[in-house]
Amino acid sequence: MGGDKKLNVVVLGATGSIGGSTLDVLARHPDRYRAWALTGHTRVEELAQACLQHRPALAAMSDETSARLLAERLRAQGLEIPVLAGPQALCDLASHPQADAVMAAVVGAAGLPACIAAARAGKRLMLANKEALVVGGATFMQAVEQGGALLLPIDSEHSAIFQCLPEDRTTWQDRIDHIVLTASGGPFRQRDPETLHAVTPAQACAHPNWVMGRKISVDSATMMNKALEVIEARWLFGLAPEQIRVLIHPQSIVHSMVVCRDQSVLAQMGTPDMRVPIAYGLSFPQRVTSGAAPLDLLALGGLTFEAPLASRFPGLFLAWEALRGPTGTTAVLNAANEVAVQAFLEERLRFTDIHRVVADTLAGCQPGLSALPPVEDLLELDLRARRHAQALVVAQRT
Ligand code: NAD
Ligand code: MG
Repeated sequence: MGGDKKLNVVVLGATGSIGGSTLDVLARHPDRYRAWALTGHTRVEELAQACLQHRPALAAMSDETSARLLAERLRAQGLEIPVLAGPQALCDLASHPQADAVMAAVVGAAGLPACIAAARAGKRLMLANKEALVVGGATFMQAVEQGGALLLPIDSEHSAIFQCLPEDRTTWQDRIDHIVLTASGGPFRQRDPETLHAVTPAQACAHPNWVMGRKISVDSATMMNKALEVIEARWLFGLAPEQIRVLIHPQSIVHSMVVCRDQSVLAQMGTPDMRVPIAYGLSFPQRVTSGAAPLDLLALGGLTFEAPLASRFPGLFLAWEALRGPTGTTAVLNAANEVAVQAFLEERLRFTDIHRVVADTLAGCQPGLSALPPVEDLLELDLRARRHAQALVVAQRT
């Protein structure tokens, strides 16, 4: 590569919503960034399209068959791109000596090992994959510290908080009274809670302000997404659970706020477009164009805020409870939610039973971990909690 000062970016989950937005931002700055490696799960054609457009040095798929099909598909177009296979491939790419930056945009706990690999290898680690931090907790943060990685939040709320804080992290503790994460309230913000049992996956995925992957769309509808973000904020900013508050802000213009010790409130605003936090993650501490539309406050008219109700969004309130529980409790919460959301998307579970499965798994599955568990123990707990939740899903049907 000698003399080439472009940032080599690994996009994990390149076929997803965040992955696609990342490729869009990268393509706006070919002088600064190179989509150096792209990974997908099993959708061969979608990763093939991304490879044809971005010409990465390497690619990876989750299984041997998909990898072989992708390599053949690319060769037929005259592209010789080595395609790796399996979960370990994500770790190898994320920690590769030629990789400078890693966009962690896999969905779910499946992304944790690659995040840890990137952290240990000291990469610029752009974290969209919030579940990895919810499961990894202190273990994840220790890997970041020991590896000397630069951890940059991509979740819009956490990017907002990060943008409101000075670069010197050692000042954060003294400066912050609390933070306010904003939430859109999702598609069911005004729906009668009594009718929520009947909602369909399509209704739950029809988010008013953002177009996102299906899992996070359901999480937004239950506000479990915000629960995961409360946990994510605890680790990213080193806050106590009571220093994290949540407000519903249906316009999604104020992306979050920092309330300082002196009661000065700093907010970051913009149109709801994930390319803004992605561009900031790529360019920090500089700024580059993102492709987002300008914010038109006059057209908007007003910004409103409301309190989230426990009767409508019971899952949200599990965040603080889980943070106060023993190490691993947040991993149990996440695993149960992943299982329940998947079952809901496959129409094996009612919308309102998502919360029941999560709460019952939390009550029935004890983590039993040390304070700073190795990643292997966290992954084992994740599996155990999944089995517990799966059994509850089956029981709900009968
Ligand atoms: P998505 O479903 O659109 O994309 C997920 C990507 O991960 C795909 O490329 C898929 O191929 C890959 N993938 C899925 N399972 C995998 C596995 N087991 N192994 C390897 N790869 C796998 O999801 P998304 O909306 O892009 O969200 C990605 C992450 O970013 C999630 O953690 C989500 O919470 C977070 N996030 C998303 C948004 C958004 O606007 N979409 C905003 C904030 C945070
Ligand atoms: Mg978010």
